[in-house]
Amino acid sequence: MINNQKNSILIIIVLIVMVLLSGGILVWQYFKTLEKKGEALEEIKIARENKMEEIKITEENKVEKLNEIYPKFLAMEACQGISQGRTSEKIVALTFDDGPNKEYTREILSILENYNIKAGFFIKGKYAKIDPELVKEIFEKGHIIGNHSFSHPNFIHISEQEIKEEIKKTSEIIYKITGEHPIFFRPPFGACSPLMIEILREKNYQIITWSAMTNDWDPVTAEHIAQDILRRVGPGGIIGLHDGCPSMMGGDRSQTVKALPKIIKELRNRGYRFASLDDLLNISAYSPTNDSRSQSHE
Ligand SMILES: [Zn+2]
Repeated sequence: MINNQKNSILIIIVLIVMVLLSGGILVWQYFKTLEKKGEALEEIKIARENKMEEIKITEENKVEKLNEIYPKFLAMEACQGISQGRTSEKIVALTFDDGPNKEYTREILSILENYNIKAGFFIKGKYAKIDPELVKEIFEKGHIIGNHSFSHPNFIHISEQEIKEEIKKTSEIIYKITGEHPIFFRPPFGACSPLMIEILREKNYQIITWSAMTNDWDPVTAEHIAQDILRRVGPGGIIGLHDGCPSMMGGDRSQTVKALPKIIKELRNRGYRFASLDDLLNISAYSPTNDSRSQSHE
């Protein structure tokens, strides 16, 4: 009887110890996670405060390190670009990405002409090469041409050499067609690494992001596109829509085309006027010489 009691007490003690131990491990793991989360947040904070060098990226560990800290550079803030004009006036600029596109760019050009609006077109070098006439048409109608890379890769995943090539090739194509050296660069996917920012700044590009964009690359309705943009836009806003079609995102831009007049009419109803991107930002869209790009002609 006494032995049985002893055994029961022993079992209970063992059980209590086990519970305490596993509880302890859980608590320890929880604090460990918190610590890791804190470190990650701290790194993001540093990146946002424009002190990229504190992440200790050296020439040797650059690619490895950037891939390691990649997820937070998906945040558009990491681009440290211009996402809107500094004004409290009801002025906005329209921009279009991923073109030129034979079908949809022309439709957009005709809508813009009807409403007498000058927009910005961030073109893909690859498409511009296929259809230089269309790029010329955009330019001659008074719209701004910006660089949106050659093949639309995620710049976080490519090498320094590839980053340079993507930018340079596209600017050269734009120069061949328009006689102008573009200054405005829009990062594909709005993804930026410190390395590409450094390269772009070195060559005096202006990184232009946006303040109002929607998923018009998805199969959504014109109504959805218009409502989303109208909800997000404010004074000085840069509106980002898509006239072109990266194959990976599907190619139908008919709903964007359909949404455009709705957006224009409603914003005008609200007292907004449309400015060209360079006027809104008060920054020249082109460089008078290719001095700043000297390395791209080495
Ligand atoms: Zn794009």
